[in-house]
Amino acid sequence: MQIIKSPEEMQRLALDLKRSGQTIGFVPTMGFLHDGHLSLMRLARPKCDVLVVSIFVNPTQFGPNEDLDAYPRDFERDEQLCADESVDMIFYPEPGNMYAAGASVWVDEESLSGVLCGESRPGHFRGVCTVVAKLFNLVQPDLAVFGEKDAQQLRIIERMVRDLNFPIEIVRGPILREADGLAMSSRNKYLSAEQRKNALCLRRSLDAVCLNFEQGEKNVSSLRKTMAELIDAVSGAEIDYISFVDDASLEPVESVQFSTLVALAVKFGSTRLIDNTILVP
Ligand code: AMP
Repeated sequence: MQIIKSPEEMQRLALDLKRSGQTIGFVPTMGFLHDGHLSLMRLARPKCDVLVVSIFVNPTQFGPNEDLDAYPRDFERDEQLCADESVDMIFYPEPGNMYAAGASVWVDEESLSGVLCGESRPGHFRGVCTVVAKLFNLVQPDLAVFGEKDAQQLRIIERMVRDLNFPIEIVRGPILREADGLAMSSRNKYLSAEQRKNALCLRRSLDAVCLNFEQGEKNVSSLRKTMAELIDAVSGAEIDYISFVDDASLEPVESVQFSTLVALAVKFGSTRLIDNTILVP
């Protein structure tokens, strides 16, 4: 397994691989890997000749009061996990090498980015789209895998690939959960034992909404109320948003008539967790 730190070297190696007819699969991450990340690598591995994982905590997608400096990092452990998944290359750039001084070109998605996490984290998806576009140019993948855990991000990346004609297949990876149902996330590490227990309310509220929906409830105010009550009952849980949006356009819906993404973000102290499910009539 090769570790590549220089963006120029990454691009040169990738272009050489493409010229020799090899296909490249790509899993972008911010590191501190867990089984959710590994599941994406397992999806990509059989679909490509060369599997590249990037580990880069991208500064441009963090707001001024967010956890950029505190974001958990453990490269040695990540390296071992990647080796165990038969990853061929880890692209591990330094922030200073990824962005030119005075960089002034950004990729801004203007339709799907204004709701859900985009509303709570202004500028977040501009940072995500810009870094993913840069990573695509450096790694030259034929396919890239993104997790359903970040449902809005996944849809925005699919839109970017469509609208900017990246010749890349985007593969969706299902949400991986801990045994008790909490969606795996690098940020779970921040939770105290008490918060970790309380965090199960995200999954509980999604299970409840699925059940209500299966029993015939389609009205979004009523479905949202069920979720909010379950979360408000948990001490220390502060709802950032609970949103019901059309799964394709991410426009808010009042009734579940078509495939609907139910997404929520809940804060426990300074730790913000997200989760989602899809209701299909
Ligand atoms: P991150 O390192 O948090 O930026 O995530 C890198 C990739 O892993 C993204 O495509 C995420 O959607 C995906 N991911 C994170 N957590 C999970 C999970 N629990 N299940 C599946 N994919 C995940």
